Amino acid sequence: MKVFISADMEGATGIAMKDQCRKGSPYYQEGRRLLTHDVNAVIAGAFDGGAEEVIVADMHNGSFNLIHEELDRRAEVLYGVPHRGPRFPALTDDVDAMMLVAYHARAGTKAAVLDHTMSSRTIQRITVNGIEIGETGIEAGLAGAVGVPVVFVSGDDKVCGELSELLGPIAAISVKKGLARERALCLSQEKTEKLLREGASRALSLCGRIKPLIFDQPVEVVVEYKSTAAADGVDLDNPAIRRLDGYRVQYTYDSFADWYGGAADKME
Ligand SMILES: [Zn+2]
Repeated sequence: MKVFISADMEGATGIAMKDQCRKGSPYYQEGRRLLTHDVNAVIAGAFDGGAEEVIVADMHNGSFNLIHEELDRRAEVLYGVPHRGPRFPALTDDVDAMMLVAYHARAGTKAAVLDHTMSSRTIQRITVNGIEIGETGIEAGLAGAVGVPVVFVSGDDKVCGELSELLGPIAAISVKKGLARERALCLSQEKTEKLLREGASRALSLCGRIKPLIFDQPVEVVVEYKSTAAADGVDLDNPAIRRLDGYRVQYTYDSFADWYGGAADKME
């Protein structure tokens, strides 16, 4: 069994402020250790559950957040992010399951740690065929486009609820309770490790039952920007792209992955 883990950062236990996730901040090295801890627990759980191959993609803000020498040596790690083209080049149809570790709720979620959708500066919300989704939904849609189901998510209680609502009974492991954007009640690393490891192992038994997320065609993505200036920056010469009003732009494609191809550099 081959498992693909995508790691963000904001959803690790012990992380409750932006500076822990920001390169150059005095709190960033601590954030890296906290993230690496949670990712290791999920890698171990995946192998416990029958994985023979595990690939981890380090996807937060330009990549290079994981502490490589502390990572479980059985996993391979994909560093770097594309500015154009596929978000996950190693996520192919021979992957049995995807797991999302240390993710956060979508922009506008109340009492969620560091809620945002792709860019906190420019994006207010994203809907796909009328359903509002966050970054976990985007990852699930990209995995679904190659036939891979997302079976596991970890982060705060809000992102767990968000993705469970979209996908059904996946393994959703809450490692902290969000109280405000930068306030959370976090579990210890010991408790978190046990929950993540058991959850990741159990998640692999769900593979047959959780279907890949495939959006109906044509896929209509509406991005509501935070400013008219951000919406003005969109290339309207492309016939697939239409400005709906001051803040909103609609993208229409046959596949969800085609939409993402032009947006890869905006994910944080
Ligand atoms: Zn992030």
